[in-house]
Amino acid sequence: MPFLDDTLLRQIIMDHYENPRNHKLTDDDSYVSVNMDLDTCVDNIDLQAKISNNTIEDIRFDGEACAISTASTSIMSELLIGKTIDEAKIIIDNFNNMIYEKEYDADIIEEAIAFMNTHKQANRIKCATLGWMGIEKIIDETVGGKK
Ligand code: ZN
Repeated sequence: MPFLDDTLLRQIIMDHYENPRNHKLTDDDSYVSVNMDLDTCVDNIDLQAKISNNTIEDIRFDGEACAISTASTSIMSELLIGKTIDEAKIIIDNFNNMIYEKEYDADIIEEAIAFMNTHKQANRIKCATLGWMGIEKIIDETVGGKK
């Protein structure tokens, strides 16, 4: 990974904000949907995921959202599509550890490293984690309470 200066981190976020990946909802009813919104920001996103054979086959999202939550959800979708539930949980855990200033493995979270400084702006933490909380909710609903 190249040296992570603020400019590079901002470029990753702007790239995903201006051109978000998987940014189109489906009416396919094999997808599980959740709505996630924040009263501290404009963010109100619908998130959809298709999970079968213990694998996240697809993730989609749309809605009104700020640059941080749009980019974070876009990056999350790219990272988690094609992963098993166990693999996804490891990525989610590492992302959350980074956000909350615990130990994490930068290689595992790939482009989500763009949010490494989010903890310095407490009001942005909710934006950066919104889509990630959404996919955790879908995983919990789909796979059930087993850990
Ligand atoms: Zn926001």
